[in-house]
Amino acid sequence: MAVPEGEFYICALYLARSSEHLFELVEPSALNTHTRYTARSIDSFPKPNAGGPTGSTPAGRAVGNLLAVGNVGSGMELTVLGSGSAMPVPERVQSGYLLKDSGGDGADRSLLVDCGSGVLHRLADTDPGYEGVSTVLLTHHHLDHVAALLPLVKARWLAGEGHLEVVGPTGTKALVDGLLDVHDYLDGRIDLVLREVPAGRAFTAGGFDVVGRETRHSMSCLAYRFSPPSRDDDPAEGPLTLSGDSEAFAGLAHFADGSDVLVHDCSFPDGTDVSNHPTPASLGESLADVDVGTLLLSHLYPHTGGREAEMEASVREAGFDGDVRVAADGLRVRIP
Ligand SMILES: [Zn+2]
Ligand SMILES: [Zn+2]
Repeated sequence: MAVPEGEFYICALYLARSSEHLFELVEPSALNTHTRYTARSIDSFPKPNAGGPTGSTPAGRAVGNLLAVGNVGSGMELTVLGSGSAMPVPERVQSGYLLKDSGGDGADRSLLVDCGSGVLHRLADTDPGYEGVSTVLLTHHHLDHVAALLPLVKARWLAGEGHLEVVGPTGTKALVDGLLDVHDYLDGRIDLVLREVPAGRAFTAGGFDVVGRETRHSMSCLAYRFSPPSRDDDPAEGPLTLSGDSEAFAGLAHFADGSDVLVHDCSFPDGTDVSNHPTPASLGESLADVDVGTLLLSHLYPHTGGREAEMEASVREAGFDGDVRVAADGLRVRIP
């Protein structure tokens, strides 16, 4: 099958940005495999620009950074495990966030939000590890948010951890049941509890108080706002909001109003013709009249590579007046 010129161009960029050693090792078959995946991906989204689908970005080099929004040593901590999307780049795995809180009662609490491909490897590099996380909260059921769910079940089974609760929007039970139908040797290996949560009603997950809100996406998706167990806050007033996948719109901006930290889908740079996800200008515009301390741009497609500073500036120019930062895998945020 002939390779369309445009797709070959993307491969050429990939190779040019790889090390010379890697360039020598790439087999023609590997090149073709990469081309086929690229061709399928661009059915839905425009091609990345010349900034390329891979490479070490300024955000990528920020792995392990600590961003203290409040007083370091207090409150809860968010770790960005995966700031990427459905099109892989080396430095960003798919969606995943770890919430931790030591609380005032001495009990350590951990909650994993979303579990895309690559997240388990990042989780294994944290203090709790996959052994220490017994609750997963899903925003929605797209593959880049649930791909590592059964791998987590298997890892916990092999590690002798006998329990996992999976919490998510309507359809979560059917999703997990379907996955276990396919991988039936995992069925019954651990005590697996499935719980579906509606939008607008507060609930508890992993010890955190949470409330969800429907987003605007290509499938049903919930944004979540969190309050740590150490505080008596209504989660609707909590200090942390995660958008899940969503276009930017006033209702979601209002949901996040008053958050110290908002992690928001910002999948593509300005100028990208896309729906179901925001661009920096649309996001900044939606957040112009709300009070958010720090905005982390996440769920980043390869198209954003090399355009991080431009995206941060665009959000501000569109009207958002808080701090803006492009997320990176490994970034830790202490939240008051
Ligand atoms: Zn999605
Ligand atoms: Zn996604």
